[in-house]
Amino acid sequence: MTNQVIYSEFHTKSFGVTFKVEPILSYKSKFQQIALYDTESHGKLLTLDGCVMVTEKDEFIYHDMITHLPIYTHTNPKKVLIIGGGDGGTAREVLRHSSIKSVDMVEIDEEVVKVAREYLPTMSCSLDDERLNLYFEDGVEWVKNKVEEYDIIIIDSTDPVDIGEGLFTKEFYTNAKNALKEGGILVNQSESPFCTPEWVSNIYKKLNEVFPTVKTYMSNTPSYPAIWSFGLCFKEETKSINFDESRYKDENLEFDYYNCDIHKGAFALPSFVKKLIK
Ligand code: SAM
Repeated sequence: MTNQVIYSEFHTKSFGVTFKVEPILSYKSKFQQIALYDTESHGKLLTLDGCVMVTEKDEFIYHDMITHLPIYTHTNPKKVLIIGGGDGGTAREVLRHSSIKSVDMVEIDEEVVKVAREYLPTMSCSLDDERLNLYFEDGVEWVKNKVEEYDIIIIDSTDPVDIGEGLFTKEFYTNAKNALKEGGILVNQSESPFCTPEWVSNIYKKLNEVFPTVKTYMSNTPSYPAIWSFGLCFKEETKSINFDESRYKDENLEFDYYNCDIHKGAFALPSFVKKLIK
């Protein structure tokens, strides 16, 4: 790399992540500042409003965990809604399952998808899959008039600020729950218990006010602010969390992060996280 610059994202006032980078592009879309870099260590890096969204090197961890865990938890998923996910990684992983017949992907910012298509082909590679319907709309509005349409809703959004804020409200969760079919599951990225504990507590309080059963699970994407949490929410009260091991074995898909041990282990929470979501 020639003219190396430093890209830093502060996760708290005085702690963050730093990359040696070569800038590729940076411009403001209707919704946010989109920037793309070539990094020395992690391949391409996409940021939105100065926050790391994905790197080519470690995106597989997050995208495995926000897709395959709910897909193997649901007893028979056919129709999926993805809100956000503009880089395409979540859609890529969902569409690897032949059992999934239809995916609606509702991404507010068409420019993010444009950049992903041009510069992040390993993530955006499935955006032309015939099962995928891509809409450039606000996910908050999208769910308002949907009733019992989806088996799984995946909220792969930015943080609970600016355009992402509406995806973390009780009203949105209520509308999303109505959009779930019987037996439906909603999963969201629910932020870093280490860097933004107040966000995590707030998100879980609202999820628990809307869904009868909410389970937290964890993973760790190195370029994200420390360990990362996900909220797994059930439309109906669910005593024991299913794991469809036979479908997992029959599908026999190769994952670089997810596997049945990770599935079971992901629900084991550190004590400080248990306190946050009590
Ligand atoms: N994995 C990343 C994370 O955990 O921060 C998120 C990646 S993805 C790029 C986040 C996407 O959410 C962005 O493309 C952004 O445009 C989209 N987004 C934010 N608010 C939205 C909304 N209200 N409706 C639809 N998409 C939204």
